[in-house]
Amino acid sequence: MTEGSGNNTSDRLTVKGTGVVSGIAYADVVWVRPRPELPTSGPTIPEGERDAEYERFVAAADAVAERLDGRAGAAEGAAAEVLTATAGMVRDRGWRKTVCKNVRSGTDATVAVVEATAKFVAMFNAAGGVMAERTTDLKDIRDRVIAQLRGEEEPGLPAIEGEAVLFADDLSPADTAALDTDHYRALVTELGGPTSHTAIIARQLNLPCIVAAGAAVRDFRPGEKVLVDGALGVVRSGADPEESAHLVKESQERAAAIARWTGPARTRDDHRVQLLANVQDANAARIAAETQAEGIGLYRTEMSFLSATEEPSVEEQAALYGKVFAAFPESKVVVRTLDAGSDKPIAYANMSEEENPALGVRGLRIARDNEALLTRQLDAIAQAAQGRGEQAPTWVMAPMVSTAREAEWFASLCKERGLTPGAMIEVPAAALMADKIMPHLDFVSIGTNDLTQYTMAADRLSSQLAYLTDPWQPAVLRLIQHTCVVGRDTNTAVGVCGEAAADPMLACVLTGLGVNSLSAASTAVAGVGAQLAEVTLEQCQAAATAALASEGASEARDAVRAALER
Ligand code: PEP
Ligand code: MG
Repeated sequence: MTEGSGNNTSDRLTVKGTGVVSGIAYADVVWVRPRPELPTSGPTIPEGERDAEYERFVAAADAVAERLDGRAGAAEGAAAEVLTATAGMVRDRGWRKTVCKNVRSGTDATVAVVEATAKFVAMFNAAGGVMAERTTDLKDIRDRVIAQLRGEEEPGLPAIEGEAVLFADDLSPADTAALDTDHYRALVTELGGPTSHTAIIARQLNLPCIVAAGAAVRDFRPGEKVLVDGALGVVRSGADPEESAHLVKESQERAAAIARWTGPARTRDDHRVQLLANVQDANAARIAAETQAEGIGLYRTEMSFLSATEEPSVEEQAALYGKVFAAFPESKVVVRTLDAGSDKPIAYANMSEEENPALGVRGLRIARDNEALLTRQLDAIAQAAQGRGEQAPTWVMAPMVSTAREAEWFASLCKERGLTPGAMIEVPAAALMADKIMPHLDFVSIGTNDLTQYTMAADRLSSQLAYLTDPWQPAVLRLIQHTCVVGRDTNTAVGVCGEAAADPMLACVLTGLGVNSLSAASTAVAGVGAQLAEVTLEQCQAAATAALASEGASEARDAVRAALER
């Protein structure tokens, strides 16, 4: 079965995380040097030796700070700033004072460092957001100082020969900043986030990078070859070496074209396609604003409320949305109302346990029994959108729309508040009934992730079914085609905001099918734009025809590659 084996049978291990810098690398796994074992207890220091013990700590901390300063001097830009900032943390008076207090009460210096750091980590975690991401920095200085106190090797980057993919639980800023890009070809971390230092520096170095890949990455063995796809956020071992080398070469050529691409997106023969970014909070929106994204095509509002136990007030929500809007003061923003349920349970949406949550009360369906939850969110969106000019329209769409009645109801609630209504097309019924649904709406946006899951009857979270949950499946493409035809007939804008929009080749197919806008992770925008710039609309249409006529997903990929090369 060629389709099923497309990416799977020969692979030893495939892990998906958050891709923060696109690009493909194929090299040996190298893990950062382990962190020191943390002491939980130590000898009580006799009173007369406590001053000397504190001096021992000061000398170790100073040595670490000086080493970091030295590296800062040899680095440039953000890397130098990060190293200087880390050295500053080692000198932080508050942290040193806490260590000092512990040592003076008889605690051994290594234990005192652990305890003082734990106190600051707890404080940073309680502050949340960007502060919480800085706890990696704190733990890093703790580990360096402890290694220094014990006379052990400094934890972190090993010196290597040849090329490698660097793996870590979470890379410390100092490690990331000291990375030698002649040797390290990609980064994969178990933890971290798109705004962590790892991500910031990887972007600066333009090094393919995947963060938050989860505990499964620990199964990658030192020395085994892995293929990293930073755009898709996928790392796998056991990939075919020849195919991998080909993918790396293609990726290097593409990287050069992407670096040259400035946007806005158009095909070689000047057909315009709007490229937008998918975001989940203000941080992501600000990062997106630094790319060529022309606006936000999917703001996943539910992502801010996953740990909320109570519904935020209209004012609180409006403040949150306003921060996202502020990143794009002169561009379109498409806000999606709460897509709670299934893999994104939200406590205050009051959902009961269901046998099949993906087929249950999720998205817009929650509002049938709780309309006020939806209208309060719409009020908040309208409030946040006040004052945005004509060049910065605020569009609002509902997730999981399945019928024309639902679309009509949602649209009326939006219009009452002066908002432009739309719907996600992610349930096959919505695609098939597009001619009845679209007349109620100003736009639709195709959610290929769920549309694929529901069309193929395959759980999007199942790695065993990855060959089915593939937006290249012609069955999915046929539903997209139908949606585009109706969009054209009814003069309704049709966008795509699922992962399919991040795949440059598939973006050509979608353009050929008649999609007007593509919204993807902001890291993918330039890659899609550069690919579109290389082809004509006619080539896109031929690619779409070839994909629709294919028997399966892998045949569709091959047929499209051929059509685009023609
Ligand atoms: C989709 O289903 O394609 C989509 C964009 O929504 P989400 O991934 O948030 O379900
Ligand atoms: Mg969806």
